[in-house]
Amino acid sequence: MACMFSIFALFTQSRRENTWGFFAHKKINRISVFTLPTGMFGFYKTNLEYVETNAVNPDKRRYLVEAEGQRHYFDYDAYPDSLTAVMPIPWHQVKALFSENFFKENGTLPWHVHAMYYQLRKAFSEKNAAQILRLSSDVGHYLSDANVPLHTTANYNGQLTGQHGIHGFWESRLPELFFEDYNLFTGKAVYLDDPSATVWKHIKLANAAVDSVLLFEKELSSHTSSDEKYSYEKRGNANVRTYSREYSKAYHDMLHGMVERQMRRAIKLTGSFWYTCWVDAGMPNLDNLTEEPVEEPDSLDQRKTIKVFRPHEH
Ligand SMILES: [Zn+2]
Repeated sequence: MACMFSIFALFTQSRRENTWGFFAHKKINRISVFTLPTGMFGFYKTNLEYVETNAVNPDKRRYLVEAEGQRHYFDYDAYPDSLTAVMPIPWHQVKALFSENFFKENGTLPWHVHAMYYQLRKAFSEKNAAQILRLSSDVGHYLSDANVPLHTTANYNGQLTGQHGIHGFWESRLPELFFEDYNLFTGKAVYLDDPSATVWKHIKLANAAVDSVLLFEKELSSHTSSDEKYSYEKRGNANVRTYSREYSKAYHDMLHGMVERQMRRAIKLTGSFWYTCWVDAGMPNLDNLTEEPVEEPDSLDQRKTIKVFRPHEH
């Protein structure tokens, strides 16, 4: 299913319907759990399946909730240098400078994540297990998107440079093909003195890689025939055109470990963000949580009560 989605999306996506790919999002949330310290690890490990499976909820919500889309990206290059030089600036200041449409077009990722810091910290303070899990899964998704170069540029699918499809190529096709060779060990989560500033730094780093992402593919494409560039692979009952394995390998080699490096950054950032919210909430004991039912506010037809498992139940 994950593969079908992402490969299909390579050629069908309109305005940014795709992110990292379901595959990579699930892996990042899952592996982030293993960066956590003892006081958190038991609870998250026991609920590992939830955190992994629901890593893709924010992408599913995009089809249901209009306001969802803009949370997944931030077009660094759409902002004047005078503003990017002083980022992060608070939402209440920046929202006065541009129209609603501007934000819809160019994204609100860092401000949405900033708001989620307070929500997750509150969930920890209230020891609300279901909220902790829902918010942790969601924020892991957005933090991962922040590390995808093509989520930080207005040329998000190569549509301005004749490279339509490169979005899904980089973030879905490549990790799906080469994930097994990645070393995603990041060490332990660290406390973030300023979570917003850290997220901002990651966006800046991801944006710095945009030129390579585009130029390398352009260069490779310029001396590859269409027959070599694309191939057909069976997905369910359909033959789907996608970037060939040889072409993918050549591009992946040119990127010198970029996809792997960005996945590692996403993992470390996600674990560290969860950890920081927990520390700032006073390090509550997660073996002894309340079980307030939570309705997922944004997923209209997916309202459900989250089943929370406590560490001692295993
Ligand atoms: Zn996303």
